[in-house]
Amino acid sequence: MNEVSKQLYRELGISDKVIEISKDVLESLDDRFRKIDDNADYCTLKVLKAFQKNNVNESCLMGTTGYGYNDLGRETLEKVYADYFHTEDCLVRPQITCGTHALALALMSNLRPGDELMSAVGKPYDTLEEVIGIRPSTGSLAEYGITYAQADLNEDGTPNFENIRNAINDKTKLVTIQRSKGYQTRPSLSVDTIAEIIKTVKAVRKDIICMVDNCYGEFVEPYEPSDFGADMVVGSLIKNPGGGLAQVGGYIAGTKECIEKCSYRLTAPGLGREVGPSLEALPRMYQGFFMGPTVTASALKSAIFAANLFEKFGYESFPSGSEERHDIIQAITFGKPEGLIAFCEGIQAAAPVDSSFAPEPWDMPGYDSKVIMAAGAFVSGSSIELSADGPLREPYTAYFQGGITWSHGKFGIIKAFQTLVDKGLILC
Ligand SMILES: *Cc1c(COP(=O)(O)O)cnc(C)c1O
Repeated sequence: MNEVSKQLYRELGISDKVIEISKDVLESLDDRFRKIDDNADYCTLKVLKAFQKNNVNESCLMGTTGYGYNDLGRETLEKVYADYFHTEDCLVRPQITCGTHALALALMSNLRPGDELMSAVGKPYDTLEEVIGIRPSTGSLAEYGITYAQADLNEDGTPNFENIRNAINDKTKLVTIQRSKGYQTRPSLSVDTIAEIIKTVKAVRKDIICMVDNCYGEFVEPYEPSDFGADMVVGSLIKNPGGGLAQVGGYIAGTKECIEKCSYRLTAPGLGREVGPSLEALPRMYQGFFMGPTVTASALKSAIFAANLFEKFGYESFPSGSEERHDIIQAITFGKPEGLIAFCEGIQAAAPVDSSFAPEPWDMPGYDSKVIMAAGAFVSGSSIELSADGPLREPYTAYFQGGITWSHGKFGIIKAFQTLVDKGLILC
């Protein structure tokens, strides 16, 4: 932060005191940021290798319309993803509308009536409760006679391997493992821990399908869960792998058999993956995947900076400012609604789009309490872009994520901090 940028910080409402505090915190993070850049180098080269191996060329960027038969760009992108994740196959499509859709598709395609789904790490992400039928919902797995079991976590939020073994029975067909904490305060899982869970499940019965909800985890570590035996990894393109550029989409990478089943459910039996026009979506999907590792690095730096800054003023952070990262989500607990709301207002005020709006808590479909969301994004709802959200319930935790550039992520955190200072919630 040099003198000229300090002047602009002031013009954008940041006080000298807050600039000084931020500068001190930032200086202490140099070593960690270097490691993040190293990992971004590694993942970028992995992506580049997958592009080159599959001979991505200019004609791959042209879309198709209508049925979308023989869509070279779509087919090549799916090979690029499969190579990156080291899986046999992959579906990457604009017709997969979000992460929940991708997960629901992976589940519904691979489960049949009478099968049981088991969650290995406690309660799954809020929106999956309706997919599974934990909360009764039209079209849920429960309506199709698919039962659900879960292995509860240890008290400290880590996986309980005994519970995992005990939750498996003869009906267990698929085990879901959620990498990121979602709207919870348990630790996010490292790829190593996921590998251990998969090993535990496969030791009971090899043919149980292990699916990883990979949302927010891509490019954070040098390896992905599919490098350690996951049969499917599933995620959203308006998070890490879309690199802030993809405007819609989801992916499912996995074994040939699992992906084939997904393809017939995505379109129709008999049609499968052969249809599905890519329209105008491909250039951003390709470029977004290419940008993904560096964009994820910016988001990681923003998360680490946020944890360290707010911890300094007594706010509890998950993960803590010094912990290793396994996803891009930073939870900061405010203990009261005013803190959560002020934080989200600050993030919104820092946005490139819609910065003059104030976020309001609302009843969002799929969630069981009011949620406040701050996002001034180029892509609606994109949470690889600087954004914050949180359910209006105890302990009033803000889940902060994104920042497609580090310069902007850094400013967003400082602006959010300043908003709490301005409202008298932080004294400095
Ligand atoms: C975001 C997310 C989802 C759902 O994704 P949407 O795109 O919001 O539908 C599922 N699981 C986890 C862990 C997530 O972070």
